[in-house]
Amino acid sequence: MKNVTRILLVLIFLWFQPGLAQEKPYVILISLDGFRWDYGSRGMTPNLQDMAENGVQAISLQPVFPSKTFPNHLSMITGMYPENHGIILNYFTDPFTGERYGLRNRRAVQDARWYTGEALWQTAERQGVICASYFWPGSELNLAYRRPTYFQYYDHGRPYRTRVQGVLDWLKLPPADRPHFLTLYFDAVDTQGHRAGPDGAATNRAIARVDSMVGLLRQGIADLGMIGQVNVIVVSDHGMTAIDSTRQVRLDSILGSIECDIEERGPLMLLRPKNRSVDETVQVLAENASHYRVYKREDIPKNFHYSHNPFIPPILVLADMGWGLVTEKLPVHGKGNHGYDANHMDMHGIFYASGPAFKHGYRTGTLRNIDIYPLICKILGIMPRQNIDGRLETIECVLQHDER
Ligand code: AMP
Ligand code: ZN
Ligand code: ZN
Repeated sequence: MKNVTRILLVLIFLWFQPGLAQEKPYVILISLDGFRWDYGSRGMTPNLQDMAENGVQAISLQPVFPSKTFPNHLSMITGMYPENHGIILNYFTDPFTGERYGLRNRRAVQDARWYTGEALWQTAERQGVICASYFWPGSELNLAYRRPTYFQYYDHGRPYRTRVQGVLDWLKLPPADRPHFLTLYFDAVDTQGHRAGPDGAATNRAIARVDSMVGLLRQGIADLGMIGQVNVIVVSDHGMTAIDSTRQVRLDSILGSIECDIEERGPLMLLRPKNRSVDETVQVLAENASHYRVYKREDIPKNFHYSHNPFIPPILVLADMGWGLVTEKLPVHGKGNHGYDANHMDMHGIFYASGPAFKHGYRTGTLRNIDIYPLICKILGIMPRQNIDGRLETIECVLQHDER
């Protein structure tokens, strides 16, 4: 009997040892902004290729509408559509107070009141899983319990190697302080995609550059002897399509004397008419429609999931693929853009994953980015929020221990 008690005590002691906590899985979520679904087949991404061979590759990752950076990063990290997580655009206005949200407005991006969904790091930390973020939209909130324990204020110019090293340094922390969910973000493919277009030489160089960062991170994980515990998921928020100055519609000419507050430009415009009714404005836009579609907020196609939020302006004008909506004051430059209908393949991103949780050499069809949140919860062994839009059932086929 004495021996049984002793064995039990030893087991309890071992259970609380940091060394054993280390056995819990790790997930690193990497976002390659604007990396279109097919960029990986250009023969310039050996590291993503290696992940596909030893892990999982989806044909594409479907973004949410609008296929813009902030709405999509928040959808990935909350499992919700923008109408529910609150970040409905990169830039928008609270119509009740007139206050502005915008990705370049530091105070706004840190202001927790804009964010109405629970991010994965909040879900995880509440359940005892430490989190870290080397950049992710929504990771810098001014409420400590709504952001990861370790985070960085966004710095566009931060060298990419420093970011990778930052993540590796977090993995070197003593087990009791070490995060198990980490994010990493690189903008280059999006930045060059806008400037040079999806087929530009500079875009191809950026594709190779971010791929090499994925390689650097995976090599660092191997050097730490953690390859058997760390899961790496590489995603993108949306794709990119070619645009040019000959395919632009001057919306101010069509609106004539109708004055509107306007959000966005290019692939989409959202309007709040000031001196006419919504119906009259929609009618004028519909009568003159060329290379765009116009919707009242409540008539936006159901599969866009973009109606049920009072911050969404009452009128959506959506350009045909490759076309741009502009006004004299809101011109659009560059050779590539995104923000269009998320059903279009040019707007689709990527999903690659490898590590102990994932199948090996498994290829699957299009996945939805709102399902990433429940997927990572499953890998980390935590309970997801119940009020999300994403579903584990539609993505768990990528997991090693998928019971089906
Ligand atoms: P867009 O192409 O307009 O949808 O947005 C892409 C831009 O978002 C990038 O070039 C970055 O400058 C910016 N961005 C990405 N992540 C963050 C962040 N966490 N905070 C602020 N800006 C960001
Ligand atoms: Zn983006
Ligand atoms: Zn972009």
